[in-house]
Amino acid sequence: MPHAASHVQDVVEAVSIRLNNRVYEKRSHGEDVVVLSYGEAFFDIPLFGFDDLPMPALYHYSHSRGIPELRALLAGYYASRHGVAVDPDTEIIVTAGSKIALHMAFMTILAPGDEVLIQEPAWVSYPEQVRLCHGRPVRIPHGVEVADYRAYVTGRTRAIVVNNPNNPSGRVLTDPEWREIHGMAREHDLFVVADEAYSDYVLDSRQFISAAAHDPAKEHTIVCNTLSKNYGMSGWRIGYVFTNPELLYQILKVNQHLVTCPATVLEYYMARHFHEVLDITAPQIRDVVVKRAAVARMLDDAGLRYLPGDGTFYLFVSIEGSRLGSEEFCTRLLEESGVSVVPGIGYGDSCDRFVRLSVGAESIDRIRRGVEQIAGLLRATAAEPLAVFHPQGAPARPALEAVAAF
Ligand code: PMP
Repeated sequence: MPHAASHVQDVVEAVSIRLNNRVYEKRSHGEDVVVLSYGEAFFDIPLFGFDDLPMPALYHYSHSRGIPELRALLAGYYASRHGVAVDPDTEIIVTAGSKIALHMAFMTILAPGDEVLIQEPAWVSYPEQVRLCHGRPVRIPHGVEVADYRAYVTGRTRAIVVNNPNNPSGRVLTDPEWREIHGMAREHDLFVVADEAYSDYVLDSRQFISAAAHDPAKEHTIVCNTLSKNYGMSGWRIGYVFTNPELLYQILKVNQHLVTCPATVLEYYMARHFHEVLDITAPQIRDVVVKRAAVARMLDDAGLRYLPGDGTFYLFVSIEGSRLGSEEFCTRLLEESGVSVVPGIGYGDSCDRFVRLSVGAESIDRIRRGVEQIAGLLRATAAEPLAVFHPQGAPARPALEAVAAF
């Protein structure tokens, strides 16, 4: 029997999806699970209806760059929110989610053996997508400063992936950090592939700086974004990618052969209700970021540590001190306590002492229950002597205090 190609066999399943499948299974048997593992926030968004959308156009394929109305709205959104000019005719493609936008970007820029720098904690799909494109992911362990990324550049380095704000730490890049990254990109002729899926999940909108703000001509910058998080519409599967017209044309050819266009009906729906949806989701996004800050304080009170960052709806919580690896920790937490969080190992080898906690899908009271269970499992599985985790930039606490606080 013929087998799948070895580079595909080597791809690992997305750890977050595998864990969430187990959550769906448990819930379908009527079990109560505190779900802190979902990769999305749940908003109240009304259904506006489809009756006034153009017939019969919405039954058919549409423009492979995306319908012009939606392209114009998305370009306007980046201009007004982030001060980034995007030409809707030549610089943007609307596609079926940002996952495929990222993948098409990698397909477009990578030749076999090309290296891509990926900072850990790294969203699960970057290394696998690079491998699927016959590239080589080069992981930068967590804790390495942006100023030190240059040490990972070789003659084969072609790109750096930057996830800002970061899933799972919530870290938002500063202006000086962007200067470093773009300086390195110019010096070594690298692409900056920027994943800005959580761009609206910051407390102060000025805190988020788009990668394209430092490269207005988008000479080396490719930006991917999505309606999944900023609009709470992950099931709509609408994402987009923008870059300079020449490079975008190359991505467009890939899109034409892989995707054609996103679901036409959903593009028309989004174009018709774009501002209404944003007005409805904006306060809900603010609430979830505020909730994240409250959960951070809850973790502080429980003596749990987490990586620095205040964007997104995730916290990357340290399980340093447990004798369990993150996969075993999460499995026991789910099976014994009915609480689901995602193992840190999915975000890189340097992250096995962490779990990802999402505040997007549960009430603050149920999250408190989850945090208590995490602290309890840490206590129950404490290795001796208890190691202390020093998050980057945070004051070190003495080991004894950490033990007492768990
Ligand atoms: N990038 C990041 C960092 C994500 O967390 C996700 C979804 N979890 C995506 C991209 C993909 O989003 P989508 O394909 O739904 O646009």
